Amino acid sequence: MKAVRIHEFGGPEVLKFEDVPQPTLRKDQVLVRVKACALNHLDLWIRKGLPGVKLPHINGSDVSGDIAEVGEYITDLKPGQRVLLAPLTFCNHCAECTVGRQNFCPLFSVLGYLNDGGNAEFIAAPRVSVIPIPDSLTYDEAASVPLVFLTAWHMLVGRAQIKPGQTVLVLGAGSGVGSAGIQIAKMWGARVITTAGDETKLEKGRDLGADYTINHYKQKISEEVRKITAKRGADVVIEHVGAATWDESVKSLRPGGTLVTCGATTGPEGKIDIRFLFSRQLSYLGSYMGSMGELHEVLKFVFSGQLKPVVDRSFPLREVKAAHEHLERSAQFGKVILNP
Ligand SMILES: [Zn+2]
Repeated sequence: MKAVRIHEFGGPEVLKFEDVPQPTLRKDQVLVRVKACALNHLDLWIRKGLPGVKLPHINGSDVSGDIAEVGEYITDLKPGQRVLLAPLTFCNHCAECTVGRQNFCPLFSVLGYLNDGGNAEFIAAPRVSVIPIPDSLTYDEAASVPLVFLTAWHMLVGRAQIKPGQTVLVLGAGSGVGSAGIQIAKMWGARVITTAGDETKLEKGRDLGADYTINHYKQKISEEVRKITAKRGADVVIEHVGAATWDESVKSLRPGGTLVTCGATTGPEGKIDIRFLFSRQLSYLGSYMGSMGELHEVLKFVFSGQLKPVVDRSFPLREVKAAHEHLERSAQFGKVILNP
């Protein structure tokens, strides 16, 4: 089969579109013919070099496609069914997994990180990861959903425990987590403020339901949030940008507010003023992916059309270099897709 592999870490030139052996199917697995696979910033980090990644490696965490073959032990799925794959991998038998906290499993990882992912024509996956999708979703739409909608749902619902009437600041309307976060916060009855670097992206953010928008190149985020909230600040801040926005995110919180972060795209260092943290009684929460239960929960709303996948554009798998460059330029609004 054709796949994109990296044999060494580096720039987009290390992505090789080549022939590789098709995965052999175990009796407890499902073989999926990949139709679409979304890019994430993780793909860029892995390409540049992350500890634990064994070479050669196939990237790809967000997969949709058709079932090509089912292993002998699987009785409730058939070849030809349209499916997506859970973007997480876990042991499925430890205490954390069996209680439904797969993202605390000692073997927890992201699909396509420590194992091979979906930048290929075929991928083999355990039954638990295979989720049938409705005909109303295209393959590109289905692949754009799992990782970012699960991440944003766990941040807002699982970690920050969002409530109707709260004001939520969602950074980066054009990012995958941002475009999912805006919609989920609105669905929970929150007032949503979002940020972006140009007017087109701000308008698309409003189309997704944001009530207020801030141009982070022209305006100071915390000052605008104070104006919008009558000097009070936001109840919840959804962070994933990292070093470039950390101080502004912290300053945007109301007393008693919650900052929840799932990433550090612009750098991992952020300062904490302990006096500010205790005197304003702030909560800083970390969030990583989510559980299988949360994935099924958020997918219900995607499948019913209440939450909408946001696809920026798609590239043929052989043009993977151009796709990585497109994501690296932050030119996208929503998810960038590869089609094998
Ligand atoms: Zn486990």
